[in-house]
Amino acid sequence: MTNELIQRMAACGDCRKLAVDYGTNLIISRRPGADQRHWELPLTSTGIRLDDHLITEHAEWLPDRQPDCNVCELWREDYKIGPIEMAEALHRAWHLCEPLREICTPGNHQLTRLM
Ligand SMILES: [Zn+2]
Ligand SMILES: [Zn+2]
Repeated sequence: MTNELIQRMAACGDCRKLAVDYGTNLIISRRPGADQRHWELPLTSTGIRLDDHLITEHAEWLPDRQPDCNVCELWREDYKIGPIEMAEALHRAWHLCEPLREICTPGNHQLTRLM
């Protein structure tokens, strides 16, 4: 079963490339015995590129404040009218990518749908 986020990403050439780069590094990092020195930097940099793309090109995909999330709760209390702050946008992108992170485990081949 392909989730909604993956279906949306499949329709965007940049998303496909960035999500596969990030997801591949995530899978590597989750392999038993994976050496952090090998995956930490590529995982961070590919994650930043994906977030950046999602925030600038697909801002409408970013989910609303999530219930049961302490960080979202803080923003709810501190609600401001106007454009959302970068830190909040990054946090919402993190929520948006939850389904992507779920499928990026060793032995799960759903990411290949984006290749
Ligand atoms: Zn895209
Ligand atoms: Zn949150």
